[in-house]
Amino acid sequence: MITMQRVRKAAGKHLSRAELAVRSAFGAARDRHCPACRRDVVGFFRYGDEAEWGCLDCGASPRERLMHHLLDEGVIALPAWSAVLHCAPGEASLIERFRAHAGDYVPADIDPSRYAVPGVQHLDLMAMTDESRYDRIYASHVMEHVPDDAVVLRNLLRALKPGGEAWLLVPLWDRPSEDGPPDLSGRERERRFGQWDHVRQYGRDFAERIRAAGFEVDLIDAASRPPEAVRREALADTLFRARRPA
Ligand SMILES: [Zn+2]
Repeated sequence: MITMQRVRKAAGKHLSRAELAVRSAFGAARDRHCPACRRDVVGFFRYGDEAEWGCLDCGASPRERLMHHLLDEGVIALPAWSAVLHCAPGEASLIERFRAHAGDYVPADIDPSRYAVPGVQHLDLMAMTDESRYDRIYASHVMEHVPDDAVVLRNLLRALKPGGEAWLLVPLWDRPSEDGPPDLSGRERERRFGQWDHVRQYGRDFAERIRAAGFEVDLIDAASRPPEAVRREALADTLFRARRPA
């Protein structure tokens, strides 16, 4: 669905990108660093309300950069030869990184035709029946789309090996989570939750839902990282690390 909100965001992104490209061409200092493409860059382009969103060189988003930062710094770990489920596999640098480290890398989505990733499989998280299969499950901006998040969280828990971790990121606001009724129109979803296909909006109490499904959970905020890294890599967002108890 094309909406005015999307058009405005896309136009702003284009302008900000063009401005950065000009600054880059005129030799502006590359005093920022992108941990996704590992290049020094002049800055990050705007998207919506986020002034420093995307990497000018590789397009990586703040949450994509946060994941690389946390992996580089050993805050989270991807064991060698592990089994990794990558839901909605749209972030090129993470596809590459997960694939390189995993013995069994499974990119999957409910609509695989949306992703140009070799081997992408069909997966309906609501109907997932895997048991103790994965060491890591990565789902970034997925949970706000699923019809029943309690069902999906239980399915993810069962699909993980004991001790395995689900790495979950969702759009957050500073209020308690709010679910929309199933028959809410696209326009109404956009008004309430910021995007026409978001069925709910999470707050930090998302952690309680994860815990209720049987996980141990901790929140890793970009803001908790060293300030110099936060500035240089323009890190933002919060990772919910959900561990299946061993
Ligand atoms: Zn980059």
